[in-house]
Amino acid sequence: MEHPATTSRPSGPPPTAAWTLPGIGLLKGLAVTATNMIQSYYRKDRMTTVQYPEERATISPNFRNFPFLVYDGSDAMAGMRCTACSICENECPPQCIYIVLDRDENGKSLKRPKVFDIDVSVCMNCGICAEVCPFDSIYMDGEYELSTSDRFGDLLFNKQRLARSTDYHAQLRPLEAAEVAARRKADEEKKLAAQAAKEAKAKADKEAKEKAAKEQAAAE
Ligand code: SF4
Ligand code: SF4
Repeated sequence: MEHPATTSRPSGPPPTAAWTLPGIGLLKGLAVTATNMIQSYYRKDRMTTVQYPEERATISPNFRNFPFLVYDGSDAMAGMRCTACSICENECPPQCIYIVLDRDENGKSLKRPKVFDIDVSVCMNCGICAEVCPFDSIYMDGEYELSTSDRFGDLLFNKQRLARSTDYHAQLRPLEAAEVAARRKADEEKKLAAQAAKEAKAKADKEAKEKAAKEQAAAE
């Protein structure tokens, strides 16, 4: 009995490829190369090099180099979104993030980093820290002019060096920053509405209790 897998195979000789002139593919490739070369002299979009450093190529919004920390408002340290939860530190593959949680005199967490360092000479630009952060705090920067002769002093970024404003984020990655800002605003509004509802309920409960107490006192 014929195997079921072979029953649908078409009968007859296999189809032969259409005949083409030998070398036609090579000629087509050379034509594309020649077109690009000639157009690169007069078409701006074909010019693949710029006169760096006088000129700079526009970088893609998806380009990522090293991370930065976002802060709200005008005070970088007070407005830092980072809560020092250490998720990014634990997930960083080469372990180049170092965080120390800030605490008050009683040892209570202040939910902010006392130390937040990234050794960018070790960072491999993977972006995992930005993906796992639940507090919209860390994003990938597009800054690339970082060459230095001081490997330890200049490539160990502390929180002051890593801090960037929301405006910077919006300029660098407009779509991402707008989406984050809208989500944070909606979350804030939800939180305020929940707080207002809680306060209204507490007030109504208190009034009901006072009314019941008054009624009981009047009955006695
Ligand atoms: S980009 Fe990757 S390697 Fe660099 S700090 Fe973030 S998680 Fe670590
Ligand atoms: S950057 Fe984000 S994930 Fe990393 S410690 Fe701060 S809040 Fe946590």
